[in-house]
Amino acid sequence: MDKVLLIAPVECDGSLGKASLEALTAARDLAGQLGAPLCVGLVGADVQAAADSVAGCGAAEFYGVAGAEYAQPRYATDAAAFAALCKASGATVAVGAATSRVSRALPGVAARLGGVCDTGVTALSVQDGKPVATRWYYRQRMYAEIARPARPWFVALSTGCFAPCEAAPGKAQVAAAAPELPAGVRSKVTGMICPSAEEQTIRPDAALLFVAGAGWTKKQADGQAHLTEAEQLILGFLGKAQASLGTSKSLVDLSGEGQQVMSFLTHMHQVGQTGATPRHAKGLATCCHGEEPHTVGWRFIGERRAVNLDASCGWAQGKADVLYVADAFEVMRKVLELMP
Ligand SMILES: Cc1cc2nc3c(=O)[nH]c(=O)nc-3n(C[C@H](O)[C@H](O)[C@H](O)COP(=O)(O)OP(=O)(O)OC[C@H]3O[C@@H](n4cnc5c(N)ncnc54)[C@H](O)[C@@H]3O)c2cc1C
Repeated sequence: MDKVLLIAPVECDGSLGKASLEALTAARDLAGQLGAPLCVGLVGADVQAAADSVAGCGAAEFYGVAGAEYAQPRYATDAAAFAALCKASGATVAVGAATSRVSRALPGVAARLGGVCDTGVTALSVQDGKPVATRWYYRQRMYAEIARPARPWFVALSTGCFAPCEAAPGKAQVAAAAPELPAGVRSKVTGMICPSAEEQTIRPDAALLFVAGAGWTKKQADGQAHLTEAEQLILGFLGKAQASLGTSKSLVDLSGEGQQVMSFLTHMHQVGQTGATPRHAKGLATCCHGEEPHTVGWRFIGERRAVNLDASCGWAQGKADVLYVADAFEVMRKVLELMP
């Protein structure tokens, strides 16, 4: 019989992050459908508070790797810790959130333990009594259902696909797992450089994705481009709405060719076939044509709206729920005026 393990690093404040709570929902539901035991494996400076916070999640066992050296993400310590959790629990299916920390170490752990690993998994189910993982291919154009006989099977779950687990807190009995650290861990974390919350415009947890297309940089009805005003309108809206910023390939490419474009846009903002596929409840595209290679990145956006001067742009061809045929400068000026 399978045994399901959640693998979760603990946040700096001792809590479990949203992504890990989502993975806990997935692990708990999978264990429930399989009729298999669930265990929780935690890694961090101190894991007791995190274990207590989800004591009522239905896990039969809790395992922990705790210590100052496990507080920071680092391949050597994380891989050793995850492997120890898997060995101590005897789990056959190990689930973790596809954060950068977990995604980096999980495939290596699978190799060490002679198992297999799947990444980018968006759903888990049970067919004929066996676990099945769903993941998308070819930029979300098709999906596959994967069943694997090999064990242990490690699964990195994409974030935003499951509701965070709301388990009753309590007192959890955490069994310590003993990692085998390689002699002399070489990487040292000496500090973190983070942009301030205001500078950071990619906000995966935001309710709204705001996409700025190349039209913002184009000549307008008066024959002039209005880049400064475009920047002010976009940043003003992002600041007030706390929306996440996305852009199109055209705008990113313009900056790559040394043309004057918005200073705050990077290739990281690009949404689409060769960009990101963010998950937000709503999306608003402005001055963006809505061509297929761009809109394919909107696959997981719940409600899509666009503002474009062109009534026959891509968004009008079934890509958006609502298309406002209007001047985005005028619309956003008015929106900003109306926003508190
Ligand atoms: C292999 C391949 C991969 C690609 N991958 C991606 C990808 O990952 N992401 C991506 O975005 N693209 C991708 N593309 C490019 C894509 O096909 C489009 O060229 C690109 O998305 C166009 O960007 P845009 O809509 O911002 O610019 P444009 O096509 O220049 O459109 C600008 C729009 O702004 C509108 N506009 C102008 N002024 C205003 C105004 N005042 N008010 C309202 N609207 C206004 C215009 O009507 C126009 O529709 C890819 C292409 C290929 C071939």
